[in-house]
Amino acid sequence: MTNSLPEMAQIWQQTLNWQPTDSQQAQFQQLYELILAGNRQLNLTRITDTQEFWEKHLWDSLRGIAPQQEFIPSLQTGVSVIDIGTGAGFPGVPVAIIAPNSTITLVDSTRKKINFIENILGELTLTNAKTLVARAEEIGQQVQHRQKYDIALIRAVGTASACAEYTLPLLKQGGLAVIYRGAWTQEETSALENAVKQLGGKVESIENFTTPLTNSIRHSVYLRKVGTTPANFPRAVGVPTQKPL
Ligand code: SAM
Repeated sequence: MTNSLPEMAQIWQQTLNWQPTDSQQAQFQQLYELILAGNRQLNLTRITDTQEFWEKHLWDSLRGIAPQQEFIPSLQTGVSVIDIGTGAGFPGVPVAIIAPNSTITLVDSTRKKINFIENILGELTLTNAKTLVARAEEIGQQVQHRQKYDIALIRAVGTASACAEYTLPLLKQGGLAVIYRGAWTQEETSALENAVKQLGGKVESIENFTTPLTNSIRHSVYLRKVGTTPANFPRAVGVPTQKPL
């Protein structure tokens, strides 16, 4: 028997001005159980304790889409979101759960992880999410994905400049990229500003906060697509990490 995830109604309310419905809470629980089961075959996550899963996977995923501690309003009316390097489904699956009117595309370069996520989407009946086995560098050059998304999410996939090169080409003009980070420095902001400018974006804001149970340091870096990304970006597979902008 799997332990129940904590409800944390008060913390959700205080930190995001929101609380999950009973059915969303049930989907969070189901997600947790499926990930624990999946972990027996696949190396999905080291975070398996109930409180840690709640904080580092659920809360953390949703905090990124809540700048100034409120969900981005367009997520409720319905926008297209892409999660690059989703792994076991973070942050994209919790976002799909709380934003049923938005479409979430979950991308990972590893087929095994996407197979696992497809099973999750079926079990949770999340019809607003779809999957793609691909590299960000490839889809950024494909007409069906380039400049097609309103919001791009990326957590734990590489350096900030690589994350910018993966996400900005996929955004429509006016779209928003959310880079989920732990520690962050002013020097990183300066380096990122230079990279982002070359990609048709700007660093809109950086929020620093701590997680509500363990006070771990987090930063959300928000990039706005303000122009068009030149055709040579993203560069070929591997280049954004080998030769950072
Ligand atoms: N985002 C998840 C999270 O925060 O729990 C997973 C992070 S995991 C450390 C990084 C994932 O990104 C892996 O599943 C890997 O296969 C995927 N990945 C790395 N580079 C990628 C790329 N260029 N395009 C697509 N997926 C990539």
